[in-house]
Amino acid sequence: MRYARMLLPTLKETPAEAETISHQLLLRAGLIRKLASGIYDYLPVGLRVLRKVEAIVREEMNRAGAQEVLLPAVQPAELWQESGRWQVYGKELLRFRDRHDRDYCFGPTHEEVITDLVRREVHSYRQLPLNLYQIQTKFRDEIRPRFGLIRGREFIMKDGYSFDATEAGADETYQAMYEAYGRIFSRCGLRFKTVEADSGPIGGSFSHEFMVLAETGEDVVVSCTACAYAANLEKAQVAPPSNPGSDPPAPLEKVYTPEVRTVTEVADFLQLPVEKVLKTLLYETEAGVVAVLLRGDHEVNEVKLKNFLKVQDVNLATEAVVQRETRAPVGFAGPLGLQLPLYADHSLRSTANLAAGANEDQHHYINVNIERDLGIREFADLRQVAPSDFCPRCRGALEFLRGIEVGHVFKLGYKYSQAMNATYLDAQGQEQLMYMGCYGIGVSRIVAAAIEQNNDADGIIFPVPLAPFQVLLVPIAVNDTHTMGVAEPLYEELTALGLEVLFDDRDERPGIKFKDGDLLGIPFRVVLGPKTLAREAAEVRHRRTREMQLVPLNALPGFLQDRLRMEMLP
Ligand SMILES: [Zn+2]
Repeated sequence: MRYARMLLPTLKETPAEAETISHQLLLRAGLIRKLASGIYDYLPVGLRVLRKVEAIVREEMNRAGAQEVLLPAVQPAELWQESGRWQVYGKELLRFRDRHDRDYCFGPTHEEVITDLVRREVHSYRQLPLNLYQIQTKFRDEIRPRFGLIRGREFIMKDGYSFDATEAGADETYQAMYEAYGRIFSRCGLRFKTVEADSGPIGGSFSHEFMVLAETGEDVVVSCTACAYAANLEKAQVAPPSNPGSDPPAPLEKVYTPEVRTVTEVADFLQLPVEKVLKTLLYETEAGVVAVLLRGDHEVNEVKLKNFLKVQDVNLATEAVVQRETRAPVGFAGPLGLQLPLYADHSLRSTANLAAGANEDQHHYINVNIERDLGIREFADLRQVAPSDFCPRCRGALEFLRGIEVGHVFKLGYKYSQAMNATYLDAQGQEQLMYMGCYGIGVSRIVAAAIEQNNDADGIIFPVPLAPFQVLLVPIAVNDTHTMGVAEPLYEELTALGLEVLFDDRDERPGIKFKDGDLLGIPFRVVLGPKTLAREAAEVRHRRTREMQLVPLNALPGFLQDRLRMEMLP
């Protein structure tokens, strides 16, 4: 491609609205432009990168036996009503009406549409298993779109869905997808971690996320330093305490605690360590209000709580609800005398001599003994894992890393096939439900994640497999006939060999060309000027290592091909 003719508007200044490196560099290097909040134009260079990601995804999905389809982005409400999600999906679902007053949505995901297609076309066990995917524009009306392509409202996703006759078959499909995903992210040149993820009501470890490790990631990954255990923070289990508390229990006592409300204030006032203060949190659920008890230094994990209670929604109770249930101001809630189901975190088992709210203004109890004084309905793993916890598998030390989720594999089970009656006839002629799985990859998000991981003060450093161009060819002076007499045929030759070359034929100063080249992150820069040509050579610079060398012109094509081939390997 010839630079002078391209729509490639680079910016010197960092745009003020861009918070993360990838967002800044995508704008500065002229890869994207914002149209509206969370909605972006892909300019020619940005689209080239996106197409590279798509090509890798497509190759590996096809290789793993999946077939590509393209489903409509606009979906009729009836399908979503059938699955029950029209009511529960909330405001992230962009809904609208057509001229006949029929309800539609712009698809944020395609379980309903694909299940509808398969139930119409597949009727026999002989047609299974079936694994279908698409690469398509999605829309999720995020309340706070941010970080450019990382959390946009409109984005490009690869979504795949599998249909198996049995759960054992679905496990094999899941494994094939899991392995394909590993190959995809390796081939993209990303450093990533595969983690166990929350799978909601299905439970078990039937859901994995693929996280690109980056400081700016929104997700927290908990990873064992000794074994292979890794999970996202929502899912990370807490190892049960090895030796439960063994304090000799003292008699329960109510004490006056003026203006003492928070855990820290209680601990300071009573001169207790924070872990000896009992935290009582009231949660509203569709099944009523419950009380959750934790150690003062622990945080509740609402995903675990939701799964444990088997409810759709948990919300910290409002001030009004707390006052109604405890008959005391907020800050003095405690489990004693509370007429609510009490659920306690595992870490509280057999503990004694805790301080807790007395459900009375300005008062707390001390010496609360969990087993003696409270009717705990059940102990469970209800809290967020903390850096001081140990690995739930091997009791090794844990580390907390930040990541950007780029892929998710998930066993859906019968959720959609049951709701939408997707069945087949088995070998005995019996009607059976299909067992489903789903597999997502954030294609546009990968572009941003790759930049988050690969950049320096001068700009992007694209991994070779994702680079919009492999070689940047820079003639120092485009008005010099001798230089251009070499540069033009060299550009033609490299292009004919299949190399992706950006030919900087602009009439600009070398400094500007070099700056733009570094910003764009093209792996190899080839400079031709009077000095190099006097030696029948070109100056080749590697973007990542900044290593420079003079390569004879006749050896240049082979040199570039070899180096690129080396760096394409995962
Ligand atoms: Zn471990």
